[in-house]
Amino acid sequence: MRTPPTLLPEKEFRSHAPGFWAGRNVPAEDWNSPAWQLRNRVTTLAGLEEHLVLAEEERAGVLLSGRKLAMAITPHYFNLIDPLDPEDPIRRQVIPRIEETWEDPDEMSDPCGEDSHMPVPGLVHRYPDRVLFLVTDRCAAYCRYCTRSRVVSGVGEQELHTDHEAAFRYLEKHTEVRDVLLSGGDPLLFSDAKLEAILSRLRAIPHIEFLRIGSRVPIFLPQRITPELCRMLQRHHPLWLSIHTNHPRELTTEVRAALGRLADHGVPLGNQSVLLRGVNDDAEVMKSLVHKLLMCRVRPYYLYQCDLIQGSSHLRASVQAGVEIIEQLRGHTTGYAVPQLVIDAPGGGGKVPVNPDYVLLRDEQRTLIRNFEGRTFEYPEPAMARLR
Ligand SMILES: *Cc1c(COP(=O)(O)O)cnc(C)c1O
Repeated sequence: MRTPPTLLPEKEFRSHAPGFWAGRNVPAEDWNSPAWQLRNRVTTLAGLEEHLVLAEEERAGVLLSGRKLAMAITPHYFNLIDPLDPEDPIRRQVIPRIEETWEDPDEMSDPCGEDSHMPVPGLVHRYPDRVLFLVTDRCAAYCRYCTRSRVVSGVGEQELHTDHEAAFRYLEKHTEVRDVLLSGGDPLLFSDAKLEAILSRLRAIPHIEFLRIGSRVPIFLPQRITPELCRMLQRHHPLWLSIHTNHPRELTTEVRAALGRLADHGVPLGNQSVLLRGVNDDAEVMKSLVHKLLMCRVRPYYLYQCDLIQGSSHLRASVQAGVEIIEQLRGHTTGYAVPQLVIDAPGGGGKVPVNPDYVLLRDEQRTLIRNFEGRTFEYPEPAMARLR
């Protein structure tokens, strides 16, 4: 484990809008407009240097990253960076570094083996009863450790050629599919009308029971979570939403309001975090994050071991770091606050849970367990089971 940061991460919710932006005071109506936020994304070296003094590793990273994964950062998210901290955890997530070009024989362009599980372009069918539907290749901002960097942002080695019609026809035929997860890219970048057309089409398929959306828009672009969008989503229940946040500072008052609107419209919220070195590979940071998530009515769902995506070696933490974080949460805080640590098995095995070992010994007679304090206990098997 890293040594703990000297400052505890912020537990309070702060506002970041309207922002002081490149020396200009942006009017609130601009700042609060999703179109303005998208138009004013930081996408170039010059744009970045208007706001920050870059390290050489970052300058080189920006110049070389354009052929792999585009850089784009919304003003809202950019404003969370502490310009005086070169190790800032927000900065590490979205500003490229030269390490992205390093080659590591363990790394892959498709670490979760999705391309080999696509019966039609853009639809990943790995598990028996549910599918991952990649509806777009664009996001509001780009995470440098993106597991799908091979296809998102429009500059990588591959393109995503999702065939929406073919996907709908596949789903109509495959009655075993009861759960569709819309992801990408970020589905919430679509207009309300376009997203509603997809949701209605899926809702017209009788065997599809459960819809969910994976989105980082509530974090990168909370302005997009309008009352109109929430009312539209509400017409397609049961519809759940998984957000993606990694650091407590990402949960601002604007984000909390956006998440509150979704929850008020009956959308159950989960969070997926990626364990990232120098961002959240620390129990105090994670504890602060999961507590703030509960305050936003979001249930921490998964903590992912970072996928073996090309150019991620500087951001990946050890499995041990993840296990230690879970160990320091389970029992020590609200059960709802504890995410499941998973490794998405390299090459395409799907998500595999990884847990601290609480079972010390198990045989036909008994199970020997330890609790969160390290005390051991014995659970005897029922007499009937012991006779077998
Ligand atoms: C993560 C994922 C899902 C959803 O998995 P859950 O454990 O049900 O959240 C479905 N399909 C694919 C290909 C995935 O990667």
